[in-house]
Amino acid sequence: MTKDYGGIINELVTGGWKHPHNGQKVTINIRSIVIKDTIDGMEGQLIYPLHKNEKLGIVSDTFTHEALGRRVAAAARSEGFAIEEIIWKNPAATEEGVAELRHLSRHCDGLIAVGSGTINDSVKYATFLDKKQYSVFPTSPQTAYTTATASILFGGFKKSLTAHPPQGVFFDLAAVSRCPIRLTRSAYADVICRTTAQVDWLLSHLLWGTAYRELPYILLAYDEDALFDRAAALEKADMEAYGVLVRICAIMGLGTCFTETTHSGSMGEHMMSHYIDMFAGDAHPGTLHGEQVGVTTLTMSCLQNRILDKPRPPILAPTNIDAAGMVARYGKEIGQNCIKQLERKALDRKKADEFNLFLEENWEGLSARLRDVMLPSERLWQAMAKIGAPKTATELGLSQDFYREAVIHSREIRDRYTMLDVAADSGMLEAFAGKQG
Ligand SMILES: [Zn+2]
Repeated sequence: MTKDYGGIINELVTGGWKHPHNGQKVTINIRSIVIKDTIDGMEGQLIYPLHKNEKLGIVSDTFTHEALGRRVAAAARSEGFAIEEIIWKNPAATEEGVAELRHLSRHCDGLIAVGSGTINDSVKYATFLDKKQYSVFPTSPQTAYTTATASILFGGFKKSLTAHPPQGVFFDLAAVSRCPIRLTRSAYADVICRTTAQVDWLLSHLLWGTAYRELPYILLAYDEDALFDRAAALEKADMEAYGVLVRICAIMGLGTCFTETTHSGSMGEHMMSHYIDMFAGDAHPGTLHGEQVGVTTLTMSCLQNRILDKPRPPILAPTNIDAAGMVARYGKEIGQNCIKQLERKALDRKKADEFNLFLEENWEGLSARLRDVMLPSERLWQAMAKIGAPKTATELGLSQDFYREAVIHSREIRDRYTMLDVAADSGMLEAFAGKQG
């Protein structure tokens, strides 16, 4: 007997889940998501309704072929599919890699990705360009399976590109739990940013009136306590713990489809991580996206707690746009772009006065509303310690000086308004950053 771990995801797939605030059915743009302890022997039947009559390319790399690809290919074949096994020798989620994959799969009508990061992103983007459909059998936990965007390197720059969602995502938890533990830790650290991203996004909404959607957070709340309670069990390949992590990752990914932006899971903490990727250069320790986000989430959480626990609101001054400093730091092209990003959310004297008056009159209610969606930093720290993920810049292998630079300047790379902007414009960010690392 197999055990089903779909939970809330099953209700979303069937259209049976209703938004608790308005009673409306919530639908998603993925036809099938299955989460079971094992799907061994069912792979063909899972694929069949989604890819009927297609000649399928089963895409894996040498590792994922052994882990799962061989099995998926055999199951598809016995279901009657004409298949081509594409064991990609040197997979790369780059412009050239995607071109190679399109060539390798030129005789196929649809693709089945068996893998995680590189394989998933490349298949997603290659099929999008070729107007073919795809499904995915993940080999590690990650948020990217349920998004419609692909992360591809173009000329050395990682870009998040519009692509399309899969037809089906089929999690075999036994296979997923056999991934290197570092990938599990990274996925875990990437999703605990729910709290800091929500505080930032809601803050932006309350101050600037920008769009805000609660739906992803209502769905994430189902499993959040279990995510923290079961952190230590992941190391023991506990199926319940993997079920929780995979559901949370899937909902995080779906959040981008509900809201049509990535705000729900990518605010100040992600800007710091992107800053590290963009500017660490040779000093980049080769850490994974999720590992970095885990550390920056702890920093962001500390900053948010510090500001919101104060009985009085911060007093904002007009934003200091250090144009010369940005060009010197980032070079002319990126520097000019950062100036534009910062200008879009900069406060002039009038706006600063307006916000200060608003904060003065509404601080109690506003900070209470934000604190309501915020978790104590200590709880995040404990969970990260339990799972064995890096918690500090030093543990990531970054110098303290560079990390402080990331804390202070990462707000310049994107126009999203976060607690980093409040801290900078109220003159406390440098002192705060001095204690980080
Ligand atoms: Zn992320």
